[in-house]
Amino acid sequence: MGRLKFQTPTGMHDIVGEEEKYFQKIFDICQKIANFYRFERIETPILEQTALFTKGVGNATDIVQKQMFTFNSNGDSLTLRPEGTAPVMRAYLQLGMKSLPQPVKLWYFGPFFRKERPQFGRFRQFWQFGFEIIGNKSPVLDSLILQIFYNLLKELNLKDLIVEINSIGCSNCRPHFKRALLSYFKARQKSLCQDCKKRLKENPLRILDCKQEKCRQIISQAPQILDYLCEECHNHLKEVLEFCDEISIPYSLNPYLVRGLDYYTKTTFEIFETKSENKNLALVGGGRYDNLAKILGGVSTPAVGGAGGVERIVILMKKQKEKLNLFYQPKVFLAQLGKLAKRKSLILLEEFRKSKILVGELISSESLKSQLDRANKMGARYVLILGQKEALRDEIIIKDMKTGTQKTIKLDKVVKEIKKRLKNYASES
Ligand code: AMP
Repeated sequence: MGRLKFQTPTGMHDIVGEEEKYFQKIFDICQKIANFYRFERIETPILEQTALFTKGVGNATDIVQKQMFTFNSNGDSLTLRPEGTAPVMRAYLQLGMKSLPQPVKLWYFGPFFRKERPQFGRFRQFWQFGFEIIGNKSPVLDSLILQIFYNLLKELNLKDLIVEINSIGCSNCRPHFKRALLSYFKARQKSLCQDCKKRLKENPLRILDCKQEKCRQIISQAPQILDYLCEECHNHLKEVLEFCDEISIPYSLNPYLVRGLDYYTKTTFEIFETKSENKNLALVGGGRYDNLAKILGGVSTPAVGGAGGVERIVILMKKQKEKLNLFYQPKVFLAQLGKLAKRKSLILLEEFRKSKILVGELISSESLKSQLDRANKMGARYVLILGQKEALRDEIIIKDMKTGTQKTIKLDKVVKEIKKRLKNYASES
């Protein structure tokens, strides 16, 4: 067969089957953690005004310069959201969440879009979950965010995790560091890659993020932010690290971790798998962003948060052979034959559903054999058979697949009878 005319757009994929089960598992654990820590779910629109990102994320960032899907709609410039923090802060400001008890805790789980060159672990539509705490500057909240993301990955049974942490200072101390960086890199300008030559003009901090080998060598001798932090930023970082020690989160200080976005202040972090062949593929990234509210035109509001990439976590779960047992197989199967039996089966299925008993079916089938085959594959213990004769008499056959015995009972008694048998079955096994 030739290639079908319609395919998913480059770098985008369907989430279905096994993939969907992994997504669901990650969602469930996010939700459980969110409920415990009282994070409220927020889902912002997929589209935002482009300026939210050019201003919030920053004009000089890769996201804004190269990766946004932007289009005009009746004179408005709109962009498919490339990340979640700026939209969440936009919502906080727009909806007046400042008047709520602070800090406000929000979480999300949804698709994001970046026009990247598609490659392993890097897609154009990918899913992220994020946790954001807005309205307080205490370092203990940075630690809480770290704890949430780290433990979320642990609950997914992921092994060999490491948190990389850095501080990129604040508007008091960062300018001194930037100046030192600028003069260091200017003196070595000729040896930098093309992108870094540009970054030198726009934001020298971003050079630290460069993955090119020739730049990495120069970066390894560059001034380090930790030597330039003001007292407040220094103490903030110290407290975050002390907490990580206390709860045994494995971390390493990475003075080059600046993250690709402009809104960060103080703490930045990423979580990796230590055995990953591709060191550029973080599972989670985040940090503190005390200036974002102001950049977006609101009153200054400290905040901290992060986001995890669902696809990358799924890749790792598969690699680490994390087994899923999401599809609970029904122990009961309802087989039917004939029009009247089909109609009565529909009603019966709803009765079982309301009684919270899982029942398998193949209601479209006209063949008893294929229905019994399906019941066998599912490993059903009890098969209910509603044939033409039984349907007329309001009866149903219960066949015990283990013992081979069968019994005919009144249709209106079957839910109760199955409930009883399942209880015995549970205590047997
Ligand atoms: P970032 O804020 O860019 O660090 O993104 C946070 C997390 O989202 C990353 O750690 C990745 O797990 C994930 N992520 C970011 N970009 C992509 C992408 N293009 N494809 C898949 N996952 C991504």
